[in-house]
Amino acid sequence: MNILTIDIEDWFHLLSDHEVPDPEKWAMLPSRIHQALDVLLEILQKTNTPATFFIVGWMAEKHPDIVKKIVSLGYEIACQGHHHRLVYTMTPEEFSQDTRQAIQVLEHIGGQKITAYRAPGFSITHQTPWAFDILAENGITRDSSLFPGHRAHGGYHGLQTHSPFIIQTSHHSIREFPISTVNFLGIPLAFGGGGYFRLLPYPIIRHLSKRKPYIMSYFHPRDVDTQQGVLPGLSLSRRFRAYYGINNCGNKMERWLSDFHFTDLRTFESQVNWSEVEIRTITTPAVR
Ligand SMILES: [Zn+2]
Repeated sequence: MNILTIDIEDWFHLLSDHEVPDPEKWAMLPSRIHQALDVLLEILQKTNTPATFFIVGWMAEKHPDIVKKIVSLGYEIACQGHHHRLVYTMTPEEFSQDTRQAIQVLEHIGGQKITAYRAPGFSITHQTPWAFDILAENGITRDSSLFPGHRAHGGYHGLQTHSPFIIQTSHHSIREFPISTVNFLGIPLAFGGGGYFRLLPYPIIRHLSKRKPYIMSYFHPRDVDTQQGVLPGLSLSRRFRAYYGINNCGNKMERWLSDFHFTDLRTFESQVNWSEVEIRTITTPAVR
């Protein structure tokens, strides 16, 4: 079985080092979230697929109606931080504050307890072991922030497992649902979402999917939004990765969700026999 997740953020929430606007400027940019979310929701309804939405807290604050809409349609909501900041660029205190703020906003608007987290850009790395303790202290029991191998924003080197496992820190434990990848010439391809999904032809995605017992997918509203603007100042390669294949992405997604069985995180979690999964121990500092 596979998990469908959507990261709720706007077209200008691209992660890049300096070209991307500051949070102070976000409010001045025209939002595309309503149009883009509707395209996604139509695909989900057509294929009758449950999904988990990792929502940026800032988005929930700005557009509470989208959170309410997602909840009223019966989908699960989860946290993607408040200001969409990379975890390894924050101090533990800043990370704690950002996570807490997002959870408070999401619980207040959505009326659901928030127990799942995804780091923007999968940015929990070996440099931020404290992140798991902070998540647990804020009521998070499930995480989907780990990306096996190297990538532009972090990545968790040496992660060979491609199925859920338990992270046991010095103080807490968290159920981890890593992003699934396939090795292509030694490079981990996360074919289940974002730029990789947009880039690869559907027959290849279907072929790769057949070989995987577990796929953790990750889509964004901007992946299917054909009318969005292009952020100025992006490098050529960043621009290619951000915008390639958007015209065809919705169709591909609809075929994929029809050809394979996807569900949301909570349903998948309830079907795992947790007494049998691998436990990975991480030593975390006693005092932060
Ligand atoms: Zn994101």
